[in-house]
Amino acid sequence: MTAPTGKIASGQALDPPMFDPSAFRLTGEQAAIISTARELGQSVFAGRAAAYDRDAKFPIENYRDLHQSGLLGIAIPKKHGGLGADYQTYAIAAAEIGRYCGATALTWNMHVCSTLWSGPLADDLDMDSAVRAEHERRRAVHYRRIVTDGAIYSQPFSEGGAAAAGGVAFGTEAKPTKGGWIVNGKKIFASLSGHADYYGVLCTEISEGEKASRRNTLYLALPAKADGVTVVGDWDPLGMRGTVSRTLLFKDVFVPDDAALMPRGVYFQAAMRWPHMFLTLSPTYVGLAQAAYDFTVRYLRGEAPGTPPVKRRMYPTKQIAVAQMQIKLEQLKALWFQAITEARANPTKEQVLRAYAAQYSVMEGANEIATLAIRTCGGQAMLKSLPLERIYRDSRCGSLMLPWTAELCLDRIGREALYETGESDD
Ligand SMILES: Cc1cc2nc3c(=O)[nH]c(=O)nc-3n(C[C@H](O)[C@H](O)[C@H](O)COP(=O)(O)OP(=O)(O)OC[C@H]3O[C@@H](n4cnc5c(N)ncnc54)[C@H](O)[C@@H]3O)c2cc1C
Repeated sequence: MTAPTGKIASGQALDPPMFDPSAFRLTGEQAAIISTARELGQSVFAGRAAAYDRDAKFPIENYRDLHQSGLLGIAIPKKHGGLGADYQTYAIAAAEIGRYCGATALTWNMHVCSTLWSGPLADDLDMDSAVRAEHERRRAVHYRRIVTDGAIYSQPFSEGGAAAAGGVAFGTEAKPTKGGWIVNGKKIFASLSGHADYYGVLCTEISEGEKASRRNTLYLALPAKADGVTVVGDWDPLGMRGTVSRTLLFKDVFVPDDAALMPRGVYFQAAMRWPHMFLTLSPTYVGLAQAAYDFTVRYLRGEAPGTPPVKRRMYPTKQIAVAQMQIKLEQLKALWFQAITEARANPTKEQVLRAYAAQYSVMEGANEIATLAIRTCGGQAMLKSLPLERIYRDSRCGSLMLPWTAELCLDRIGREALYETGESDD
């Protein structure tokens, strides 16, 4: 991988990294992967983002570029042809993509998690040697599809009930059958609908007469073209329009054993022991927060592309607003960087509370910064010819992402800070 030259094809200077490698003590290898993401985001994805948003169209061209640059396999181990990035490297690279196209970063997250969770995260979890060997064989099938064929994976979990928040077992069911499972169910808000090659579905393995249990959650990659898979409903939302998060229906879909992205019981173990797996929705919004700030500085300096060179930086009210935005941005980036750096199995209570706090701060903070940006830059800055109004709409969606919505983070922090495991007031 080549290091960036400092300029993109249009002659525009390359943006500085959001997390300077020396200040944040990143290795050269990490910095190179993150630079690839930033350069692709700025030079290619930024220019396409408005059209995907306007037409609520999936950024399929970006996925071809992600494949070509190796980023489709960012978290796939090197021995399987991927870039071998760890959690922290992936998260920062995703923030850099989110800076230029929120919908690409958010959907890329769904795709990457299928390899991150079945890869480095699963390596941290308990499996006996036979199960681990079988998992190693199966995940190689998924890795090969991604690295060689450019296959795209998605993560439809939400069902409209309490399951995606972790409250009850998933209503989508997988009945064991010879050589695999028969899947029936429905997923809402399924980003990449109609565009992913495989839907990474969370479902409950259940035999005749058995009661559904979260312990029996399976994580299965259903081929989008399998008989019984349909995409229904329209998609015309406020923000993150390019995610194309429609409804998926599964009717007696047969999937073979190799469809398992994690062995039996391992998803439940991950949800209990590796909670930072749910922080992976946040990088996109760190990028959006940075984008709102970057735009404001350029706009007030009279340097935003597509705007007249009118300076507005000399007004003290503008300077104060930028100071407030910069402070909020630094706060959320510092907290988030710490949280993604300590992602691991069996984190301490303090680390888990910090992860919730990071998620809350990023998801709410990105939209607060975008709101301030619009107020500060003024009317001309919110025209659809400029990226700020899209950043504002996209950033509003972060707090809604289950299982760690802003509300649920508050809920958990309050309860877990005040009660130790097993404590009650009865
Ligand atoms: C742009 C976008 C893309 C998405 N992509 C995907 C995707 O690819 N895959 C996927 O699985 N999902 C995806 N989602 C769905 C998302 O994660 C949520 O599931 C969805 O927004 C929930 O909407 P709802 O109205 O059904 O929420 P509800 O379940 O009705 O919840 C509404 C709110 O109530 C609160 N709440 C929920 N449960 C509890 C509880 N037990 N206790 C207290 N408060 C609670 C939460 O704050 C929640 O935001 C996407 C959402 C958006 C906006």
